[in-house]
Amino acid sequence: MGVVAGVAAVATCLGLALQDSALRSDLEQSARARLERAAGASNRLVDLHVKAARLRYEAISHTPALRACLEVDDTPTLAHFAEEIRDQQSACTILFLGTDSRVVARAGDHDEDEPGPVEDGARIASFAGEPHVVISIPLHTAGRTVGRFVAIESVGLATLREWSELCGAEIEFGRAAQTPDRDGLVAKASQFGDYEMRVRVRLDAEHATLANSRRNLLRAGAAALLVALAASLVLSNRLVVAVRRIKVAAERIGGGDFALRIESRRRDEIGDVARAVDAMASRLLEHLQFVQSILDGLPDAVVLVDSEEDEGRVVLRNRRAASLLSSPTARWADLQEPTSRADSRKALAQASAGAPSKFEAGLAADPQRHYLWDLVRLGGAGVLASGRDITLLRRAAEELERARRSAEAADRAKSECLANVSHEIRTPMNGIIGMTDLALDTTLTREQREFLEIVKSSADSLRRLMNDILDFSRIEAGKLDLERIPFGIRECVESVGRTFLSRAREKGLQLRWSVASDVPDALLGDPTRLRQIVINLVDNAIKFTPKGEVELDVTLGSATRDDVELSFAVRDTGIGIPEDKREIVFDPFAQGDSSSTRKYGGTGLGLSIAARLVAMLRGKIRLDSVLDHGSVFTFTAWFGRDAARADATPTPGAPAAVPRVDVAGRRLHVLVVEDNRINERLLVGLLRRRGHTAVAVANGLDALAALEREPFDLVLMDLQMPEMGGIEAARRIRALERGTGRRVPIVAVTAHAMERDRERCLEAGMDGYASKPIRPAELFREIQAAVGGDPTPDCPEMV
Ligand code: ADP
Repeated sequence: MGVVAGVAAVATCLGLALQDSALRSDLEQSARARLERAAGASNRLVDLHVKAARLRYEAISHTPALRACLEVDDTPTLAHFAEEIRDQQSACTILFLGTDSRVVARAGDHDEDEPGPVEDGARIASFAGEPHVVISIPLHTAGRTVGRFVAIESVGLATLREWSELCGAEIEFGRAAQTPDRDGLVAKASQFGDYEMRVRVRLDAEHATLANSRRNLLRAGAAALLVALAASLVLSNRLVVAVRRIKVAAERIGGGDFALRIESRRRDEIGDVARAVDAMASRLLEHLQFVQSILDGLPDAVVLVDSEEDEGRVVLRNRRAASLLSSPTARWADLQEPTSRADSRKALAQASAGAPSKFEAGLAADPQRHYLWDLVRLGGAGVLASGRDITLLRRAAEELERARRSAEAADRAKSECLANVSHEIRTPMNGIIGMTDLALDTTLTREQREFLEIVKSSADSLRRLMNDILDFSRIEAGKLDLERIPFGIRECVESVGRTFLSRAREKGLQLRWSVASDVPDALLGDPTRLRQIVINLVDNAIKFTPKGEVELDVTLGSATRDDVELSFAVRDTGIGIPEDKREIVFDPFAQGDSSSTRKYGGTGLGLSIAARLVAMLRGKIRLDSVLDHGSVFTFTAWFGRDAARADATPTPGAPAAVPRVDVAGRRLHVLVVEDNRINERLLVGLLRRRGHTAVAVANGLDALAALEREPFDLVLMDLQMPEMGGIEAARRIRALERGTGRRVPIVAVTAHAMERDRERCLEAGMDGYASKPIRPAELFREIQAAVGGDPTPDCPEMV
């Protein structure tokens, strides 16, 4: 405001100065005009004065006595007249001049200063430095000039004063002024010889006027300044009050009082600002209400906590949170059940420090209800905590956990049951198949051999069925793990083909197999499962083909640096599959024709197991079939390249080597640990048939005793036995051997066909694992692997 007052003061001073200079110039102009007017008037006055004097003296000059006296040079009379005229006219000098301009008579002061030859007429002239009117009138008698009458009158101070008054200016005579008058303006009115009449105008009046005006102006300026100052003070006061009001309102709105309004009625800019602040507050209130309505619509409880305050004051809550907090002055910790309050404060402090936190607790309002809170800092506004009611979720999770545990328990029970059932079935089957094999090796009548072969074929079917069911349940339970071991694809295909040769020949079918030359032979994968798929398809093809041929082809699909995709096609010229059955033959227990069970046997599990195994090998299986003309089953599978054996790839088309399954050149002394009499006899029989010697004991304890008594080259160990099981016995044997440098190979022979059993056996220190029903090829392969030695050729065994 001081600035405004200062500006007003400067403006006033400036105005006054301008006004003053304008006034001064006006006054000077008017003085100059007055001077000019006075100069004109004074000239006229001088003329009038001179004319008046002349007329006066002309009247006197008409006196005849005068002319007569002059004509006769009567000087004394003329002098007398001159004296009289001088007195009458108050002239200073009266002269009578002869025709030769000689002074005939005179009266007056100007003896010395003769005016010299005076011309006719009247004029102003200077005598003794004083202005005088000089009048020269010729005197005539009868048309002849007799002389001249001269009168000299002083102009006098009184006349000058009178003229000055009449002209309104000071009139004076004198020498030409060299310098201008300082106190006034001077102008020359007339020139009389060396003298001039000057008119002087004094500027005192103007100066007085100016001073007066200046005083008035100053007073007016001061008054204006005061008024301006007062006005600015009043104005600034009003502005400051209004601005302060806006500031306070803005601060309160900023603090969250969105309902506050300034409601200014001013029409100026401040009013506009106030209205803009009001509009802003309205918009904020609308937004707040909008946000609040969104928050209220949320199923979660949401609170904004002022973490700066002790225990965190709840400054905002949505409808759900309000239902949990009865008090309007509630704090964050009041939401939680008492035992969780310390944790809740910690979570708040962590979020307040900028690290979002999670926190789970029962409610203070109802400890049975659990909330999961997410806390996150919202800038300076505080900590936003949103809580979700997870009571049902927790209950569901608990239920789920209970269900999971009981499902796992049931699964374990199922697996155990499956293992036990398989053990129970395999053991007698082991006996049936093994004994039948042994019996068929003896001398029999034709009829006996026929009966026994029927027994063996039935047992084989039963074993296949059991294997299928076990495989299927393992795949379904996700418990079938694939191996990744080196194998040769040609050897694998060859062995499958040879397996079926005799059966195909019996049916009068042609069986062919081939592996394309670009298929790499050395692969990594699970040959057992691959063989299982191919066997299933070739078995079906032979089964459902009354005449014609069956073909198995392997070709190369895609290939990468590390992996190859092979395509297997099994074609037959058999009965084909009706179109509407082609989709379902891969479903478990589905058969193409309801009568096929009766006619061809089977369970409807083979293809569904094959399809699942193909999927595990990252491949796809498909079927093309024409009824009564034949079917083609094609599947793909991925295998790793066996870089280590890649160089040893046999020439395509060369006959593949058949695995050798015996222990060459060594007679083994074997300890058979088996509680089941039939299995024991079977194992001992098999060993002896191959030239080995065997001692049998019925449980783990007896086995330990036997090993202490005599050395053995190998132990064949059953798992489930009374007194001491195989796992325990193996552990004890390995413990006894510790430090002796001895290590007798142990091969488990058990009906425990689950995958985990193999691991358990190896963990217990065993070296191999052969499952029951006993397949001699597999058994001796395991024995060979455990004992070591050069393999000798043997015939392939049907699996
Ligand atoms: P299973 O042969 O034990 O019955 P599969 O799952 O192997 O079970 O086969 C399911 C059904 O698919 C068979 O019962 C048969 O009807 C049909 N099928 C499978 N392969 C062929 C084939 N090569 N030719 C004709 N039908 C076939």
